[in-house]
Amino acid sequence: VKYEPVIGIETHVELATASKMFCGCAVDFGAAPNTRVCPVCLGLPGAMPVPNERAIEWIVKIGLALDCDIAETSVFHRKNYFYPDLPKNYQISQYDLPVCVGGRLALTVDGVTTEIGITRVHMEEDTGKSLHTGEGGRIAAGSGTLLDFNRSGVPLVEIVTEPDIRSAAQARAYATELQGLIRSLGVSDAKLEEGSMRFDANISLRPLGEPEFGTRTEIKNMNSLRSLEQAAAYEIERQAKVLDAGEAVILETRHWDEEDGRTNSMRTKEESSDYRYFPEPDLVPLQVTPQWREDIRASIPELPQARRSRLVAGGLDLDAATQLAADANLAGLFDGAEAAGADSRQVAIWLTGEVVAFERRTGVPVADTPLTSGHLAELAAMVAANTVSATAAKDVLKAVLEGEGTPAEVAAARDLVQVTDDSALREEVAAVLAAHADAAAKIAAGDTKPVGFLVGQVMKATAGKADPRRVSELIAEVTAD
Ligand SMILES: [Zn+2]
Repeated sequence: VKYEPVIGIETHVELATASKMFCGCAVDFGAAPNTRVCPVCLGLPGAMPVPNERAIEWIVKIGLALDCDIAETSVFHRKNYFYPDLPKNYQISQYDLPVCVGGRLALTVDGVTTEIGITRVHMEEDTGKSLHTGEGGRIAAGSGTLLDFNRSGVPLVEIVTEPDIRSAAQARAYATELQGLIRSLGVSDAKLEEGSMRFDANISLRPLGEPEFGTRTEIKNMNSLRSLEQAAAYEIERQAKVLDAGEAVILETRHWDEEDGRTNSMRTKEESSDYRYFPEPDLVPLQVTPQWREDIRASIPELPQARRSRLVAGGLDLDAATQLAADANLAGLFDGAEAAGADSRQVAIWLTGEVVAFERRTGVPVADTPLTSGHLAELAAMVAANTVSATAAKDVLKAVLEGEGTPAEVAAARDLVQVTDDSALREEVAAVLAAHADAAAKIAAGDTKPVGFLVGQVMKATAGKADPRRVSELIAEVTAD
């Protein structure tokens, strides 16, 4: 390897507040186009913005979770540009005095932990949406463009890293970690595929050992964690080829084409001076008092990294702990079941196995199913008491997720309850041994070969509801008498 990749990531997160950043319009993504709009978010003359206090609280929360300093005074600026989905011709954003500066996020990739510096976290507002009609939904081949301003003015938080990321795998790990953190704070659903979390990656290469950065490109339009990693890997390889050919990398914005698996040039990269930033005259500087900041700090729940360390210390393997820690719903179910005395490893296997598979298959998040931590504890107790087999327990869990009732109800309704009553089982064993006296005699004489056959006969007689281990113990006991 001759080159070292240098990557910085800008992340936009749409906050899940009830109303928009500077007006009272509802944030409501399912609504019919242009039904959640008012003079403020349409930029009509004379309309005045009023900041959303909850959004400010949430950006401070994000900043504190990323270990940033929170500015007591920060300033909103106008970022000026023309685009049809931006009716004001400027976006209210922040420039040299953002709310949060100088944080960090730790990542572990292949057992190596690295700290990624956070340059800043600032508050801005989203634009409307352009929908290009006609061939492929792209503007070049479009027959027209439709505009929907429901998203115009939705609170948007931008999180900017230092150029500290050194590989495509680290870029993905950063995005994954950040997504888990945002979700655990409860401030956004952070869904890449729906655009409530969006990543732009600035990528350059430099010769190994060279302190100066090379010319960067900015990659946009990655709508999954996987495509972020693929786009970064593609771009690193593309720039290496350009440099190897003795050519120069062009400072530009490139678009990730998911279908072709490549980045394409979109436009030459704009600099911040192109936007003619100036302080927003309609808003006073934003004040976050130390008291407010500390109240917000006290409301921050356990974060994924702390949760992961706690789960590993509690005996889970790193993969299961990472998966549970990144998802507040799964982690909540796990903690609840463990507190109720359930076998934590068993519960972790169900959550990362059956439950995640159910979410993928149906698209329904576990939070929207009837499954509770109490159900998990109940099911774990049933397995421990041999009331249901481990295999049957998985079917029971699926049925509970699908709303068929509690584990006990499902097991009874589906006839999955095992015969654990020893006296009933002893009768079955005695009957089978009597019917196969020759096999019983062999076992009594020390030949254990027929045991498997006899267990099979008992299982058949009980329609599979006996615990085969217990049956085998009883056969040994009875033949030894
Ligand atoms: Zn509005």
